[in-house]
Amino acid sequence: MTDQVKRVYAFGKDAQGNNVTEGNTNMKAILGGKGANLAEMANIGLPVPPGFTISCQTCMEYANADNTWPEGVLDTIQEYREDLETRIGKKIGDAEDPLLVSVRSGAPMSMPGMMDTVLNLGLNDESINGLIKQTENPRFAWDSYRRFIQMFSNVVMDLDGDLFENAINVMKRDRGVESDTDLTAEDLQELVAEFKRIFTENVDANEYPSLVVDGVVQFPQDPDVQLQLAIEAVFGSWNNPRATLYRKQNKISDDLGTAVNVQSMIFGNKGDTSATGVAFTRNPANGDKEFYGDYLVNAQGEDVVAGIRNTSPIAELKNTPGLEEAGKELEGVFTLLENHFRDMCDIEFTIEQGKLWMLQTRVGKRTAAAALHIAIEMVEEGLITKEEAVMRVDPEQLDQLLHPQFDADAEYDVVATGLNASPGAAVGEAVFSAEAAVAAEAEGRKTVLVRWETTPDDLAGMIAAEGILTSHGGKTSHAAVIARGMGAPCVCGVDALKIDAEAKQATIAGTDIVIKEGDMISLDGTTGIVVLGAVDLVQPELAGDLDTILEWADEVRTMGVRANADNPEDAQLARSFGAQGIGLCRTEHMFLGDRKQIIQTFILNENETVREKAVNDLFAAQTGDFLGMFEAMDGLPVIVRLLDPPLHEFLESPRALDVEIARMEATGADPAAIAQKRQLMEQIDSFAEQNPMLGMRGVRLAIMYPVLPRMQVRAIATAMAQLKKKGLNPKPEIMIPLVSVKPELEKLRAIAQEVIAEVAAEEGVELEIPIGTMIELPRAAVTADEIAQAADFFSFGTNDLTQTTFGFSRDDVESEFVPQYLAERLLPYNPFATVDPGVAKLVKMGVELGHEGNPDLVCGVCGEHGGDPDSVKIFYGIGLDYVSCSPYRVPLARLAAAQAALADK
Ligand code: ADP
Ligand code: MG
Ligand code: MG
Repeated sequence: MTDQVKRVYAFGKDAQGNNVTEGNTNMKAILGGKGANLAEMANIGLPVPPGFTISCQTCMEYANADNTWPEGVLDTIQEYREDLETRIGKKIGDAEDPLLVSVRSGAPMSMPGMMDTVLNLGLNDESINGLIKQTENPRFAWDSYRRFIQMFSNVVMDLDGDLFENAINVMKRDRGVESDTDLTAEDLQELVAEFKRIFTENVDANEYPSLVVDGVVQFPQDPDVQLQLAIEAVFGSWNNPRATLYRKQNKISDDLGTAVNVQSMIFGNKGDTSATGVAFTRNPANGDKEFYGDYLVNAQGEDVVAGIRNTSPIAELKNTPGLEEAGKELEGVFTLLENHFRDMCDIEFTIEQGKLWMLQTRVGKRTAAAALHIAIEMVEEGLITKEEAVMRVDPEQLDQLLHPQFDADAEYDVVATGLNASPGAAVGEAVFSAEAAVAAEAEGRKTVLVRWETTPDDLAGMIAAEGILTSHGGKTSHAAVIARGMGAPCVCGVDALKIDAEAKQATIAGTDIVIKEGDMISLDGTTGIVVLGAVDLVQPELAGDLDTILEWADEVRTMGVRANADNPEDAQLARSFGAQGIGLCRTEHMFLGDRKQIIQTFILNENETVREKAVNDLFAAQTGDFLGMFEAMDGLPVIVRLLDPPLHEFLESPRALDVEIARMEATGADPAAIAQKRQLMEQIDSFAEQNPMLGMRGVRLAIMYPVLPRMQVRAIATAMAQLKKKGLNPKPEIMIPLVSVKPELEKLRAIAQEVIAEVAAEEGVELEIPIGTMIELPRAAVTADEIAQAADFFSFGTNDLTQTTFGFSRDDVESEFVPQYLAERLLPYNPFATVDPGVAKLVKMGVELGHEGNPDLVCGVCGEHGGDPDSVKIFYGIGLDYVSCSPYRVPLARLAAAQAALADK
């Protein structure tokens, strides 16, 4: 061996029955998930067809060297192939008794979008005879060969699968038969010849010079060539667009690479005592403790997942004649694997003439509801601890449970039902292609993707759509698995749905209902129903398993979780989700609707009495707002931020006004009215700023119009006084936005304290109201020691802090160039979604300096990052007292904060 680095690892037994496995489950970074667990299953004594795994690192080296092989690897592969032949006692390509193998991709993380598996590799014009001899079943042998050519051409050579499907259909028509299974051995032999012809016609000789024989491309007869091309295709698939998109979507590194597993074939299609299936050790949809899955008798590979034939539920396996023993053994394997991995497992198996073989296992994907249920039951079963249970649930996934459901009071007609494959309800326009879903999303329209069955090509559309609806496939079909992983509602296997994707419409069998592209439909993935039209949705409550896990999370959590809410309803909702206060109550939202008129009057009038009346009106309205907020959050802190946005945001849009004036002129309106509009226009123009985000807003506005903060503080203090007199315990805090220098805060602090003292005296109650600031400008963060001297608390406004740290205008950059930056990996992720390390550094500096200036300073975060689990973990590391996020994200933040605390133990 010239090679220093170990790149190939054997798994399974040798000819004497000894386990010669070189890997184990902890080697996923090298062997990929599939390879590492094939090794693990072999190590714990399960029947695994022997094979070997080529490492992920080899894939990266191959890819980084512009698709050329590192030195010596091909020789090593050759050695392992020969070793495999010795272990099995058969040779690839042998004309008497050939070894056939599968070539399977397998990255460290489970990754749909990678290359599909190639089965039956090693068949050629010689070895077909061996297969016929050994099985005495020419039909099976020819069927295997034609499947191999078809798969190899499609998966490895990237030829259109339809070329082959069409040829089969033509053959069936010629023979006057309905089903593939009606084709005879001779028919299939003829198909093999036809498939080879299609291969020759469609493969580019320039691209594959090694396949040219006698001047034309030929289907490769040499098993070594077949194997090498297949392995190269797996490696190449690491960088195909589907895989790249999936990694970006799931924040998976591009540097991991995929392993390749070469494994001896087992045949599930050798008759009625053979079968193939997929299963979960528990129900992945709701977490119930039951064996869950499907199998097909006399079938191979992806037949189950492809939804081509109707499958049987796994529970029936042990009652199926000829499969009883394997069925019983399989149930034993389920239990063994669960106890071994201490988690729910997802399993692929094949039975060849009554003998069970394990082809794959991994910790199974599950819905959020199932994740909670399984974690809790496993604690009850003593399999895992409460803390492990808390660590097991993905916070981001909880979002699913907080997804909308059909309103119980809504009236609707169910037009069809299917399998409840992924829970939650979705409403949107029906679309019949992934492209249409993507296009609609770009225009802000919601869609439901309707497909016969989804394939990895549909991934972008599945992400874009609200929900997924298929007419074929079971609960382990592609659509179901991917939808559950994404948390998207999915109903699959709706038999009655007759889809004509070409015509962009579907009909419901037995009715005259036609669903056209663009028609609104609703689906409920929890129950499996499909409804024509839009059903009203409602948000679910925190209860049951979710509540239990969150209680366990709260037992270990040290960082607080508050909510951002601007009205009593949201505050109430946040409280019911476990918020420990309001981290940000924005007051500008309180000036919309009817109130807009009042503030416009204030801004645009020069007459002092008119202005004073406007301020009084605003005061009355605001006092009412705060009464509601403080009452909803009685006993918990409510941080009220004083007016933040530029004033012109409350004024009419000059463009709209321009249009109106033009129309008035064109229709000959009263000149006086036109003049009045013009004057208004000039006034509004005078408020225009080049860069409003960096202009007169926040504390700057308060300094220019001190009457506004006085009014707001008075309203806060008055509401507090009134509630106190009613015996409640309101706890407002006042937050000054956009401070960059200490004197700004000192000035506002003095104003606020003066007003609070006045109100306390007038109302005759004691009022203690902490006064703090937002830290959302780099200057504030780096001079936090000074600013903290005038602050009782800091709240890091990480949205603005991200904008001002990068110099990004969020609304512009997020649509303009951030996508490009992400695609080119100039940024690893969107810094507005997960806090950027540079911004986090400023937060850390702010917290540390802040405590130097004021040891009692309370520090929190109120940007949207407060609801992002990854950011929550970073904030925990910085030592923040709490995060604050939108009400629906509160449960996620509670769980993420608990996980951060546990990870720290
Ligand atoms: P995926 O990553 O899409 O799950 P796999 O590599 O697991 O792809 O292959 C898909 C299916 O192909 C398996 O579930 C199994 O049914 C079949 N298969 C793969 N390898 C073998 C084999 N050595 N013998 C029999 N069937 C196989
Ligand atoms: Mg698999
Ligand atoms: Mg801000």
